[in-house]
Amino acid sequence: MSPVKYCQQCGRVIAREASCDYFKYIRLKWCPACAEDVHRRQKAEYMRRLRAQRREAHRLTDEQNELLRRENELLRQAIRRLEQAAKL
Ligand SMILES: [Zn+2]
Repeated sequence: MSPVKYCQQCGRVIAREASCDYFKYIRLKWCPACAEDVHRRQKAEYMRRLRAQRREAHRLTDEQNELLRRENELLRQAIRRLEQAAKL
Protein backbone atom coordinates (compact mmCIF):
# COMPACT_ATOMS: atom_id res chain seq x y z
CA MET A 1 0.00 0.00 0.00
CA SER A 2 1.11 3.51 -0.75
CA PRO A 3 2.53 5.32 2.30
CA VAL A 4 0.64 8.47 1.33
CA LYS A 5 -3.06 8.79 0.53
CA TYR A 6 -4.58 11.36 -1.76
CA CYS A 7 -8.17 12.59 -1.85
CA GLN A 8 -9.97 10.63 -4.58
CA GLN A 9 -11.74 13.79 -5.63
CA CYS A 10 -9.31 16.70 -5.47
CA GLY A 11 -5.99 14.85 -5.22
CA ARG A 12 -4.76 16.62 -2.08
CA VAL A 13 -2.68 14.60 0.40
CA ILE A 14 -5.07 13.43 3.13
CA ALA A 15 -2.95 11.05 5.23
CA ARG A 16 0.40 9.42 5.71
CA GLU A 17 0.41 5.82 6.78
CA ALA A 18 3.16 6.47 9.31
CA SER A 19 1.19 9.17 11.10
CA CYS A 20 -2.17 7.50 11.74
CA ASP A 21 -3.53 4.10 12.74
CA TYR A 22 -3.98 1.44 10.06
CA PHE A 23 -7.78 1.17 10.09
CA LYS A 24 -8.28 4.90 9.99
CA TYR A 25 -5.76 5.05 7.15
CA ILE A 26 -7.37 2.37 4.96
CA ARG A 27 -10.83 3.93 5.36
CA LEU A 28 -9.83 7.42 4.26
CA LYS A 29 -10.88 8.33 0.74
CA TRP A 30 -11.46 12.06 0.68
CA CYS A 31 -10.35 15.28 2.34
CA PRO A 32 -12.97 16.71 4.78
CA ALA A 33 -14.38 19.19 2.24
CA CYS A 34 -14.74 16.57 -0.52
CA ALA A 35 -16.09 13.99 1.96
CA GLU A 36 -18.91 16.37 2.84
CA ASP A 37 -19.66 16.88 -0.84
CA VAL A 38 -19.49 13.13 -1.63
CA HIS A 39 -21.68 12.18 1.34
CA ARG A 40 -24.27 14.79 0.36
CA ARG A 41 -24.39 13.36 -3.17
CA GLN A 42 -24.54 9.76 -1.89
CA LYS A 43 -27.45 10.68 0.35
CA ALA A 44 -29.25 12.43 -2.51
CA GLU A 45 -28.77 9.34 -4.67
CA TYR A 46 -30.01 7.08 -1.87
CA MET A 47 -33.11 9.24 -1.38
CA ARG A 48 -33.76 9.27 -5.13
CA ARG A 49 -33.66 5.45 -5.23
CA LEU A 50 -35.81 5.19 -2.11
CA ARG A 51 -38.46 7.48 -3.60
CA ALA A 52 -38.45 5.51 -6.88
CA GLN A 53 -38.79 2.27 -4.91
CA ARG A 54 -41.74 3.65 -2.93
CA ARG A 55 -43.36 4.98 -6.09
CA GLU A 56 -43.07 1.53 -7.68
CA ALA A 57 -44.50 -0.20 -4.59
CA HIS A 58 -47.39 2.28 -4.60
CA ARG A 59 -48.02 1.69 -8.29
CA LEU A 60 -48.14 -2.09 -7.77
CA THR A 61 -50.60 -1.69 -4.88
CA ASP A 62 -52.85 0.50 -7.04
CA GLU A 63 -52.67 -2.04 -9.86
CA GLN A 64 -53.55 -4.89 -7.50
CA ASN A 65 -56.45 -2.90 -6.02
CA GLU A 66 -57.79 -2.23 -9.50
CA LEU A 67 -57.68 -5.95 -10.35
CA LEU A 68 -59.49 -6.79 -7.10
CA ARG A 69 -62.13 -4.15 -7.83
CA ARG A 70 -62.75 -5.70 -11.25
CA GLU A 71 -62.83 -9.21 -9.80
CA ASN A 72 -65.37 -8.13 -7.16
CA GLU A 73 -67.53 -6.50 -9.81
CA LEU A 74 -67.55 -9.72 -11.87
CA LEU A 75 -68.38 -11.79 -8.79
CA ARG A 76 -71.24 -9.42 -7.91
CA GLN A 77 -72.61 -9.80 -11.44
CA ALA A 78 -72.32 -13.61 -11.24
CA ILE A 79 -74.17 -13.64 -7.91
CA ARG A 80 -76.95 -11.43 -9.32
CA ARG A 81 -77.32 -13.80 -12.29
CA LEU A 82 -77.50 -16.81 -9.95
CA GLU A 83 -80.11 -15.04 -7.78
CA GLN A 84 -82.15 -14.18 -10.89
CA ALA A 85 -81.96 -17.79 -12.12
CA ALA A 86 -83.07 -19.09 -8.71
CA LYS A 87 -86.14 -16.80 -8.75
CA LEU A 88 -87.31 -18.04 -12.17
ZN1 LIG B 1 -10.62 16.53 -1.60
